[in-house]
Amino acid sequence: MTEIIDYQNFIANAFVPGDPSIEVRNPANDRLLARVPEASGEHVEAAIAAARKAQRSWAARPAIERAGSLRKIASKVRVNAERLAHIITAEQGKVLGLAGVEVNFTADYLDYMAEWARRLEGEVLTSDRVGESIFLLRKPLGVVAGILPWNFPFFLIARKMAPALVTGNTIVIKPSEETPINCFEFARLVAETDLPAGVINVVSGTGATVGHQLTSHAGIDLISFTGSVGTGSRIMAAAAPNITKLNLELGGKAPAIVLADADLELAVKAVTASRVINTGQVCNCAERGSVERKVADQFIEQIAASMAATRYGDPLAEDDLDMGPLRTQAALDKVAQMVKSATGQGAEVVTGGAVADKGQGFHYQPTVLAGCGSDMAIMRQEIFGPVLPIQIVEDLDEAIALANDSEYGLTSSIYTRSLSAAMRASHELDFGETYINRENFEAMQGFHAGTRKSGIGGADGKHGLYEYTHTHVVYIQI
Ligand code: NAD
Repeated sequence: MTEIIDYQNFIANAFVPGDPSIEVRNPANDRLLARVPEASGEHVEAAIAAARKAQRSWAARPAIERAGSLRKIASKVRVNAERLAHIITAEQGKVLGLAGVEVNFTADYLDYMAEWARRLEGEVLTSDRVGESIFLLRKPLGVVAGILPWNFPFFLIARKMAPALVTGNTIVIKPSEETPINCFEFARLVAETDLPAGVINVVSGTGATVGHQLTSHAGIDLISFTGSVGTGSRIMAAAAPNITKLNLELGGKAPAIVLADADLELAVKAVTASRVINTGQVCNCAERGSVERKVADQFIEQIAASMAATRYGDPLAEDDLDMGPLRTQAALDKVAQMVKSATGQGAEVVTGGAVADKGQGFHYQPTVLAGCGSDMAIMRQEIFGPVLPIQIVEDLDEAIALANDSEYGLTSSIYTRSLSAAMRASHELDFGETYINRENFEAMQGFHAGTRKSGIGGADGKHGLYEYTHTHVVYIQI
């Protein structure tokens, strides 16, 4: 992208001129990429009104027709995959290969959700009365507000809009102000299809303004939000007066447990990849290591070597990189501060441990910290960077107790060759997901959800789909 584009809000299938006051910059070199609007209150109202106006007739269409629209968008995404991946890398900073995976996974996700059109089911229940039938119908909620984070900005569009649309809802999407370009490019592709006006709308702006207006609005029937715990909590407060239904996908502090009988080579490879992918800015990647004492020295030595071998830099300027920069200066400062605080409390830097001198961009060295304790902030709060703090544990009991002692409960992982240890972990780890002998990613047919402060409800698969519906029980006496 060389030309600087002023993007416009997408309301009722029209690009509506607004005040393009938000600058989007490449985190690898601070180059200005585009300007997007801080949507006015009137534009947010217009987007919600357009979604409301479109919803009933959209829901009245056969589900298979709605699915057809998703498939058309999926094929547009595939045709434009290379260009979209380039845009995601430029504005978000992930390496091109991963951006390509994100785009293709998004297209597959749209197709997957489209397949549900012929599988949406209600129930027929047994009645206590003679001559009565009881039908449990599943109906769309109405208008969804989809509020997106910046770390997988393109995929998150589909994760919200595909289940919303196939079940008969319409949607107003607010991308993150950090990474809105890909969402407006998605809107451009939508505009090239025959999707009815108002079914998908995009308004951009900050959370405190546009995000707050959407989440406190009585015309929204479901807030589907992915982002941090703090914002999730503010959204709950904003939604409270209207008792708006919430679906919250929040942060994580995934423990990676390595037992003495683990395949260490596999564990080192998987945990490294998990800490490096998207520069550690993933809700379900390994955020803290718990290693059984017997293999601790060996594991720490090997993972330090593996992390130190990470190739990183500007993903559009260099080939074959494993990771790009962090998204913002604030993110870089936060990671540096967390490492400093941990070393101040006695953690030992085994590799990395400093801001990387790359000339420009928000780069932090891939880092391994040994000697960490559960009293350290780095073991309790999301780092969201390429830093692995490691704590030594005596046995599985201690590992499980430490893992569960967290305000987060999104994902967890364990490396072991013992079936009984794996089964105990499955039963006793109090998390929404556990990966055994592998790290993230989740499957689109699974259910991505967290316990504790990691969220309310979840996404993907049948259970994620039904989050976009409500039940309506009908009693028919004849
Ligand atoms: P964030 O909470 O800062 O922002 C997310 C979105 O919320 C943005 O669009 C922002 O503008 C908006 N927002 C901010 N304040 C708001 C308000 N008061 N009202 C309404 N909207 C508001 O999160 P982020 O920094 O973009 O994303 C990183 C976080 O997201 C991490 O904590 C990560 O773990 C989490 N995340 C979770 C999942 C998951 O599936 N559980 C997936 C990806 C990211």
